[in-house]
Amino acid sequence: MRYKLRIYELAKELNMPPKKLMEEILNLGIKVKSHMSTVDEEVVKDLRELFREEKTKTISIPEHITVGELSKKLGVKVNDLILSLMKDGLIYTKNQRVDLDLAKRIAKGYNYEVKIVPIEEEGLVEKDTEASVPRPPVVTIMGHVDHGKTCLLDAIREKDTVSHEVGGITQHIGAYKVKTKRGEVVFLDTPGHEAFTAMRARGVKVTDIVVLVIDAVDGVMPQTEEAIAHAKEAQVPIVVAINKIDLPSANPERVKQQLANLGLVSEDWGGKTIVVETSAKEKIGLENLLEMLLLEAEMLELRANPNRLAKGVAIEARLDKGRGPVATLLVQNGTLHIGDYFVVGVHYGKVRAMFDEHGNRVFQARPSTPVEVIGLPSVPEPGDPFFVVESEKRAKEISLKKQEIERGREEKSPRKVRLDDLYREISKGMKELKIIIKADVKGSVEALRESLEKFKVDGVEIKVIYGGVGGVTYGDIMLALASNAIVIGFHVKEDSKIKQLADSLGVDIRHYQVIYDVIQDIKKATIGLLEPESREIALGKAEVRNTFKISKVGTVAGCYVKEGKVLRASLVRLKRDGKVLYEGKIKSLKRFKDDVREVLAGYECGIGLEGFEGIEIGDVIEVFMVEKVPKYN
Ligand code: GDP
Repeated sequence: MRYKLRIYELAKELNMPPKKLMEEILNLGIKVKSHMSTVDEEVVKDLRELFREEKTKTISIPEHITVGELSKKLGVKVNDLILSLMKDGLIYTKNQRVDLDLAKRIAKGYNYEVKIVPIEEEGLVEKDTEASVPRPPVVTIMGHVDHGKTCLLDAIREKDTVSHEVGGITQHIGAYKVKTKRGEVVFLDTPGHEAFTAMRARGVKVTDIVVLVIDAVDGVMPQTEEAIAHAKEAQVPIVVAINKIDLPSANPERVKQQLANLGLVSEDWGGKTIVVETSAKEKIGLENLLEMLLLEAEMLELRANPNRLAKGVAIEARLDKGRGPVATLLVQNGTLHIGDYFVVGVHYGKVRAMFDEHGNRVFQARPSTPVEVIGLPSVPEPGDPFFVVESEKRAKEISLKKQEIERGREEKSPRKVRLDDLYREISKGMKELKIIIKADVKGSVEALRESLEKFKVDGVEIKVIYGGVGGVTYGDIMLALASNAIVIGFHVKEDSKIKQLADSLGVDIRHYQVIYDVIQDIKKATIGLLEPESREIALGKAEVRNTFKISKVGTVAGCYVKEGKVLRASLVRLKRDGKVLYEGKIKSLKRFKDDVREVLAGYECGIGLEGFEGIEIGDVIEVFMVEKVPKYN
């Protein structure tokens, strides 16, 4: 017997929206009225063939995948896959992990596009998106120093008498929730754009709304502008609080004028930016501020599903003498319960106890709730994501996979855009070069910004995401990292710590004295003609297998040279868990008791580092030299 199928049923089977399927059917010239209409057998067959094929062009693969698993996904025999890898000179076994770049390349060879599924989402079907409910906004306060960020945070916290339960003493756990009649608002305790962008650089989004505090007397100051740039880059909406409104010389209208010049036009001036007047000291305007935040949150339609397993971010962590590792976890989705198994960073733990910001024990934490959690395996880093899984077994399994992925990452340091290889990025499809300008005077910032933004070569546009006066700061590096930008220092230098940080994170800082040179370099870079200022040449790699303390000499590392060679005169970089802890010179290089000039791979040696004593077993020492390249001929 012939059969018929309703369009919506077929759409479900083909995993496509009913409306889209209906359109496709109409395009084929078959008349149907709605997605409740039926189509008969032959048409169903045709449609299945047509769209199944389309579907199979993309496969989802987990972040951690072995050769065997990949072969299954691709529908090829594992031995064939191993053989074809061998032809490319890659020796792999069935149970070996392939990194994602390689997996993508292999899949491409079989005409598949790849969609990467984060480990925590593997096999997880979020059935009930419908069950999502509005969640409170998470707010970060930013602004210039002394404009009243801390006072405002405290004033709002004090105002929140509703949630102070008997015996509860306010604790600083990294964030707190304020309850109002209209709803709840969560404030992060660390004000400022640096912490905000540092989180973003780690790939997590915590803040929904930024409150920009501006002193009603001082008005917009350099850090106000910085904060605006950081919030805009992150595409987080800004609500402005003009603070210290109690002072007789307060001039909110002047502040609004300054804001308008920066593209933030206040609502009462016909713009879109919510601006409220506050006094943290006299407790004026706080309710209004909270109300406006809730209004903004409503517009953002922030939602989460309290019925799923919890996930979120660690926002603060420490080692407590009595309780062991303690962290404040911000639940972003789902509900966290006592007894839940979770993975944070690369480790796993079990929620043994939870406390709110008043020190009260709680048994569950719903979306947008910060809780202090006990039961962690170690102290996580702020910004480490966490997620709950269904069992201890699964938590353990994921944690091991994450550790393996992390180790793989260590070997390949993250690639950030650099002027030296701009050409390559462009050929890979980059369309926009983001730049941060730091200069000695405001005039130079503007002149540079203007010349750069006019510039366009081969479809590459330049976007100055922030320009400011002064040396390159920690905040600039974080912004560059989070936004994949390069930093131009014009007549300014950064201190050595900032330089070291930038180097270790792969952020490119360029120094110039003449605007013409900046433009010339970028021009050359876009067409691949810019010579690097200096080139690093890798010489080898050694692993620390032992450490010795020798009086008068200091710590000496017993090393095994794994690759290449170690030269007495070379530079070294000491890495632990992928992080650079030291970069500098070799103080001593010995084979047994003798000083030597070089040690080759496969041999053991003793290495002492100049001015660094904290070597530990398991550290990796990378050996390299730097070759200077003349900038202009
Ligand atoms: P932050 O650096 O932005 O965190 O600023 P603080 O919150 O530490 O405040 C800096 C100074 O401004 C302190 O001396 C506060 O007492 C003062 N201050 C903060 N808010 C107000 C306010 O609303 N009115 C007045 N008159 N002073 C304030």
